[in-house]
Amino acid sequence: MSIDRAYAELGLPPDASDAQVKAAWRRLVSHWHPDRNASAEAARRMQRINGAYEQIRLSSVTEGVDAGPEGPDSEPPEPSDPAPGRTVRRKLRLSLEEAALGCTRVVRGRLSCPCAACEGSGALAPEAACPRCDGAGTVPSGLWFIWPPVRSTCSGCDGSGLVHRSCLACEGRGQQSLRYQRTVRIPGGVRRGDVLVADGAGEGQGGFDGRLELLIEWRPHPFFVAGDDGSLRCEMPVDGFAWLADAWIEVPTLSGLQQMRLRRGRHVYRLRGQGLPLQRRGSTRGDFVVTVTPSFAESLSAEQQSLLAQLAAAAQGQPAAAAVRDWREALQAWARQQPSASTA
Ligand SMILES: [Zn+2]
Ligand SMILES: [Zn+2]
Repeated sequence: MSIDRAYAELGLPPDASDAQVKAAWRRLVSHWHPDRNASAEAARRMQRINGAYEQIRLSSVTEGVDAGPEGPDSEPPEPSDPAPGRTVRRKLRLSLEEAALGCTRVVRGRLSCPCAACEGSGALAPEAACPRCDGAGTVPSGLWFIWPPVRSTCSGCDGSGLVHRSCLACEGRGQQSLRYQRTVRIPGGVRRGDVLVADGAGEGQGGFDGRLELLIEWRPHPFFVAGDDGSLRCEMPVDGFAWLADAWIEVPTLSGLQQMRLRRGRHVYRLRGQGLPLQRRGSTRGDFVVTVTPSFAESLSAEQQSLLAQLAAAAQGQPAAAAVRDWREALQAWARQQPSASTA
């Protein structure tokens, strides 16, 4: 059963919290339990409900201890560790969207563990008779002319008469490479450097039932820069005429493209609550701050030039912007104090 299917079985969306999962499971069990429900479907439903609950439970992660700044990319070689109960540390690189909104990921890898067939010895027990000397420990000497013939120590078994046969499963190495796979649900709001722990019971998901520690990393985003205060920043060029005309434009957000109205003269726009979650699993989010840079095409069409000339002419009769007015007054006052060189 896929993880999405498991949520659907409990009638929940994939981002449901652990508490919601538990509540839904309790409700369904009390309805479908064969003690209370005599219908033929009840037993089958109970099986599916419990399967879904188990699947979701197995994929949940908890907050882990700090693994330190540098975790290895794959599991460190720990040949002496027995496979069950061991800890595998992994980096998990998430996009900003996945980290902010939560996601389900399948973590796959390989780990080496003692060979199950030979219990790590690399040899097959019991020892077998040496094939070179038939277990005698000595072989006839090659010196044929000596009588009686002498026997020398067998080099195949160093005289013991016994040899270790290599384990076929691991070709005598004593170690086996084991693939593992674990489905984990990452809650929304995880940060860089967070360590999440998926504990135990990976059986049926690849044979590794140890503890998985996931060090969260963020992939760089093509548009967004995350601030420590939960804010998200984006700088984008906009068409200068659209900016002058207070037009609507499309801006990228964590949840996809969104319409935003430009305001002539304004460069910075704050979209409240569209940044990163302030806490893990929290619903409060920081702000999304968009900084626009109005830009114009290098060459304008004749029609655009003519329209601009009309616009400039129309502006002549209109009151100027306060900053322009102040500037003109200061300029005139300054010009009056200059020696009048050009008066005819
Ligand atoms: Zn072996
Ligand atoms: Zn031998």
